[in-house]
Amino acid sequence: MILPNSVVGVFGSGQLGRMFAIEARKMGYRVHTFSPEDDTPTGQVADYETCADYEDLEAVREFAESVDVVTFEFENVPSVCIETAAQYAEVFPKGEILHTTQNRLREKTFLLRNNFPHAPFRHIVTLEDLRKATGEIGFPCVLKTAGFGYDGKGQTKLKSADDVEKAFADLKNQEAVLEAFIEFEKEVSVVCARDRKGNFAHYGVIENDHVRHILDVSFAPAIVSEKVYVEAVEIARNIAETFDYVGTLCVEFFLTKDEKLLINEIAPRPHNSGHLTFDACVTSQFEQQLRAVCGLPLGSSEFYKPAAMINLLGDVWQTGEPDWTKALELPGVKLHLYGKAEARPGRKMGHLTALAETSQKAVEIVKAAKQALQRG
Ligand code: AMP
Repeated sequence: MILPNSVVGVFGSGQLGRMFAIEARKMGYRVHTFSPEDDTPTGQVADYETCADYEDLEAVREFAESVDVVTFEFENVPSVCIETAAQYAEVFPKGEILHTTQNRLREKTFLLRNNFPHAPFRHIVTLEDLRKATGEIGFPCVLKTAGFGYDGKGQTKLKSADDVEKAFADLKNQEAVLEAFIEFEKEVSVVCARDRKGNFAHYGVIENDHVRHILDVSFAPAIVSEKVYVEAVEIARNIAETFDYVGTLCVEFFLTKDEKLLINEIAPRPHNSGHLTFDACVTSQFEQQLRAVCGLPLGSSEFYKPAAMINLLGDVWQTGEPDWTKALELPGVKLHLYGKAEARPGRKMGHLTALAETSQKAVEIVKAAKQALQRG
């Protein structure tokens, strides 16, 4: 067991690591973050910040030797980095899980092999593969690069055979997957945690609205049937068990009109849709991650109240510094900012959370709060 006052190492240094570090410091742990940047969202609240490349294995060794356990807030860490760290410290979740989930092809192959529901897909290397695959899957469909994709990056929707050649050329020889376009009714996620003894905790079903492929609003509880709720949680539990997972995990789903759940992605870490647990739950997704990787029991994932979260992207700064007082005047609204200096459009800068009597009321409040803080 890794007790308070020990040092937890975190690969990655964004907002997920920052909120993890806040929870870890609350419980008396020290945090050491490792990433290629400095003065990062995580580094600003961590005790130690190492700025080095993930492939600088000497720096990785020094880092791993200096901490009591290693975890992640970012899954696109090269395998060689994780393998090196694992020689000097315990690493949770395991490197193989990151290896599987950081690549869409490996992730979808895992889903297929283990009979987890997902959209039909094909592996694409050549233009011929793509032509054949569009014939099998049909239009519309979505072409996604296999590696390093998030928030809709590296993906193109193909509407007809006319789009095939350009979409293939745009891949620039990167390996890809073609998947069916799903006419979903809504998108939902299950954020859950599993500890070293195999105990499981979850936050039920969270409903997510995306704008331009980026998460905009999440709310919980989601508006879904009991059947969908039970099935989504069971799928998440089975995935965690199949991986022998330790830490916080998020499974993102498409929910179709006929109530079929299809897994879109697995995030082997706390997730944007779980940010609302920070204010709304007895134990946040970040504290669960800490407890799990340190070998402590998981906490209660009970909600104090229904909740909603809205992301604040850099776009909100376009008309100047947002008017924070306007949002904070609204009762039940909580502001989270990630300490990023430059507000680029599309960059996640912070979020607002609201608690209310129903999740729909909470959505209205966070939307009004975001509206209120934008000038002009
Ligand atoms: P991803 O980066 O794969 O999570 O995709 C980001 C968002 O794009 C998803 O949350 C969906 O809103 C949309 N999207 C991705 N893949 C599909 C698909 N196969 N069918 C319909 N919408 C999709």
